[in-house]
Amino acid sequence: MDRKEFWNNCLNYINSKLENISFNIWFKDSELIDLRDNTLIIKVNSEFVKQHITTYYDDLVEEALSNSSPNNYTYEIVTQDEVEQNEPVVIEEKIELPKYKDNNSYLNESYTFENFVIGETNRLAATVGLSVAEQPGKLYNPLFIYGKSGLGKTHLMHAIGNYIRNNSDKTVLYVTSETFISDFTRLYKKDEERVELEEHFKDKYRNVDVLLIDDIQFLGGATKTQDEFFNTFNFLHEGKKQIIISSDRSPDDLKLLEDRLKTRFTWGLTVNITPPDYELRLKIIKNKITGHEVSRLIRPEVLEYIANNCESDVRHLEGAINRLYAVTAMYSPKEINLEFAQDALRDYIGNSLYITNNIAKIQKAVAEYFDLTVDNLKSKKRTANIKNARQIAMYICKMTTEETIERIGLEFNRDHATVIHACNRIDEEYKSSEELREQIKEIKIKIAN
Ligand code: ADP
Ligand code: MG
Repeated sequence: MDRKEFWNNCLNYINSKLENISFNIWFKDSELIDLRDNTLIIKVNSEFVKQHITTYYDDLVEEALSNSSPNNYTYEIVTQDEVEQNEPVVIEEKIELPKYKDNNSYLNESYTFENFVIGETNRLAATVGLSVAEQPGKLYNPLFIYGKSGLGKTHLMHAIGNYIRNNSDKTVLYVTSETFISDFTRLYKKDEERVELEEHFKDKYRNVDVLLIDDIQFLGGATKTQDEFFNTFNFLHEGKKQIIISSDRSPDDLKLLEDRLKTRFTWGLTVNITPPDYELRLKIIKNKITGHEVSRLIRPEVLEYIANNCESDVRHLEGAINRLYAVTAMYSPKEINLEFAQDALRDYIGNSLYITNNIAKIQKAVAEYFDLTVDNLKSKKRTANIKNARQIAMYICKMTTEETIERIGLEFNRDHATVIHACNRIDEEYKSSEELREQIKEIKIKIAN
């Protein structure tokens, strides 16, 4: 195991014991840069972080070290400045492997279903994920989850794994495809240890009831490893063991993967997570700040401001909140208003002044007018009344706001062609239907109030 991986294991352990926010601020950027005698040299970003860790988290770091290796490592924290003053002598020393333990799932306990916020764009993945967690190996096998980076795939996988661990005696293993590759290529490096390593490998991957393999796209290209994964997959699948795979693209788009693997990936069920819409973004932000001391200080329009400006993925959204926390800790403001937030987040989300989301307002008014919910409008449902209301809402968005067609599409979980089609249809009808003109007039009055 190399250093990075070893320290990552320690970090995973630390992460599982801490609130996300604390982990992100104190540990996320730390790096294992050297090993001197039995002392790990950990680099952090500032003196402030160094002091904080040594004062408050000393025990936790010790615990993480002893959990990740049988050696009695100690550690020392250094800052970038100290590193520069005193270039460490790099001693290449082998870090001893932790003994493989049957019960080590490599799961991050802080990712659960409880703190996975569900909205229109991830509902299918979350519900299917939960049903697989309740009935591993029985329903959809494999479960293939795909979506762009930062949308919650890893979180969801850990949530499934944790659920199974907590509610059954099944053994679970979570790995990234990179770990799989490095475990496998190790077999070819050391001839003398080969037999032992091979046993270790088989033990690790075939003795499980549930295998979660994250970011499968990295398997592309590594032919021998693909063969081995193919065998592992078949072995587990035939034994009715649950396999859950994530990827940043659909099985069809995994260009570098062998066809026989791609075919197998679609044997079970494939679900997609798309970027969060405005409502989900707002819900996630509210969820993240609940219980944190800033939640008392923060003005509601700040939440909207963040939700409106971090639209691409959840990781970006979390980054904004963490940033806000950090700046708040530094300046202790009496309240976090829009001005403070904009200042704090300027470098992070640019100078955008996008504050009120008119699309959300229009969706709400249209939904109320037709006795529907906003979720109905954003859903895939195509019943005549929902479809009609959705098209009217899109039309009003286009006619009365400055929003781009793409953004309107995003808020309805549709692509831009669908928005254009809807607007053209309503535009046509508007000319001939007195009733429609009346409806739109009434909705606009509703929006204005
Ligand atoms: P991915 O694996 O798709 O790149 P992650 O699972 O690593 O994304 O998610 C990025 C971050 O966003 C994580 O900290 C995760 O907890 C958080 N996150 C993503 N989706 C949600 C959600 N629906 N509810 C709460 N947190 C989420
Ligand atoms: Mg991930």
